[in-house]
Amino acid sequence: MTIDAIIIGSGIGGLVTATQLAAKGAKVLVLERYLIPGGSAGYFERQGYRFDVGASMIFGLGQNGTTNLLTRALSAVNVSQEAIADPVQIHYHLPQGLDLKVDRVYEKFLQNLIAHFRHEEQGIRRFYDECQKVFKCLNSMDLLSLEEPRYLLRVFFQHPLACLGLAKYLPQNAGDVARRYIKDPQLLKFIDMECYCWSVVPSDMTPMINAGMVFSDRHYGGVNYPKGGVGQIAQKLVEGLEKAGGQIQYQARVTKILTEQGKAVGVQLANGKVYRGKRIVSNATRWDTFTQLLPVEAMPHNEKKWQQNYQKSPSFLSLHIGVKESVLPAGTECHHIVLEDWEKMTAAEGTVFVSIPTLLDPDLAPNGYHIIHAFTPHWIDDWQELSPSEYEAKKEEAAWRIIDRLEKIFPGLDTGLDYLEVGTPRTHRRFLGRQDGTYGPIPRRKLRGLLKMPFNRTAIPELYCVGDSTFPGQGLNAVAFSGFACAHRIAVDLGF
Ligand SMILES: Cc1cc2nc3c(=O)[nH]c(=O)nc-3n(C[C@H](O)[C@H](O)[C@H](O)COP(=O)(O)OP(=O)(O)OC[C@H]3O[C@@H](n4cnc5c(N)ncnc54)[C@H](O)[C@@H]3O)c2cc1C
Repeated sequence: MTIDAIIIGSGIGGLVTATQLAAKGAKVLVLERYLIPGGSAGYFERQGYRFDVGASMIFGLGQNGTTNLLTRALSAVNVSQEAIADPVQIHYHLPQGLDLKVDRVYEKFLQNLIAHFRHEEQGIRRFYDECQKVFKCLNSMDLLSLEEPRYLLRVFFQHPLACLGLAKYLPQNAGDVARRYIKDPQLLKFIDMECYCWSVVPSDMTPMINAGMVFSDRHYGGVNYPKGGVGQIAQKLVEGLEKAGGQIQYQARVTKILTEQGKAVGVQLANGKVYRGKRIVSNATRWDTFTQLLPVEAMPHNEKKWQQNYQKSPSFLSLHIGVKESVLPAGTECHHIVLEDWEKMTAAEGTVFVSIPTLLDPDLAPNGYHIIHAFTPHWIDDWQELSPSEYEAKKEEAAWRIIDRLEKIFPGLDTGLDYLEVGTPRTHRRFLGRQDGTYGPIPRRKLRGLLKMPFNRTAIPELYCVGDSTFPGQGLNAVAFSGFACAHRIAVDLGF
């Protein structure tokens, strides 16, 4: 069989590319180094608990519009995923008593925020309304490859105003727009946190397109939790891929992308096996793709340039906790952000992210227990060159510092603990196959919005990249966008 496309990796970006291509009739082979699909959207099971390895706050599982890309990717291969609506995106626990919930209902969220900043009511409304404008543009058109001129022409003629709107916002960052309307320094810090908690950079470095998407879709399609855990999304995509005639192999680590006369023609696995395909797609990060899978000395100029513009974000220290249900006060929400000092927002162990998915899907834990996934930024450098006992001791100390901080919102957490597993940047590197365990690319300095984020084609003919180091960046729905775009470009290139 001639393979049309070989996809290296079964993260959501890789799987959406694979399923979209298979649905169009292409012969697709996915090669995954790990035991199950999903990458950062995978899961693991311990003592009756099913933990999400990373993502838990899921956009893109809504029913309406065009930006519900996970729902669309699943239905393209005739599968579906039950989604449980989350009434509150985040409960923020921030410095100076800034305690507020981002309600699914837009006006309720605005009222909650305005209650803390009455003098900024107009600025708050103007900023978030402008985000809604960006979203309306995105949500009016099919989201496919911006590298495909005929598609661009078609959407331009169908939605000229939306396209002009998006072109206007593409080079802008959310912080600049916020500063046009808002003056209160604490409120601007809040906007920084609103961005940081998914872009891992403050608002002046967060592209307005992404901010428009997140700050609006949470009130439109909403945040929804997949019944059975986040890992179900990848499992269902694989089911659909196989139904559509595609194949996936696990424990199939690609060690080399093979090239002939400068073109990508195949891949070699760690066990020496070689596969050849008409197109090769890497769902590994760009750092892994261009330094591990291809010779570093032959790195294309535009990839060097990309690395000058973007750096690896930190990884995370992750606590996967099982607790007695009595630990959670009545009315506890699923997702929380905890920070005590604004100066530490971007520091290691500054911001703590918390998800309690069992509040939405109790079946993920034994009866009477809940899962708390708490994670906080950490850099790999702090975890290198430790003896096994030093590593264990350091993990334990760090974990208890986080548990102590969480005691403020979950009193009795310490005594209610039933299970604790701690992951470090080394764990993320090892199990997710991501260099330094990074969460994804972040700008090295302030860039012009999303203008410098690369699309799917690379300088190496027949080689494409997909996932969070391509346009538009991190997050499940974002990498699904990248998957739709990548498959669209390949389908056009191959004449499907
Ligand atoms: C702790 C944490 C919390 C997060 N929270 C959220 C959230 O709440 N909401 C949200 O939307 N996003 C969240 N994210 C981000 C989101 O999970 C990622 O942006 C997204 O899943 C990345 O998808 P991807 O397809 O780019 O790649 P990945 O998920 O990294 O998948 C790449 C796949 O390729 C495989 N692979 C790599 N190299 C090779 C090779 N050489 N050979 C074979 N296979 C290979 C890997 O094993 C992996 O399966 C979170 C991430 C983390 C780490």
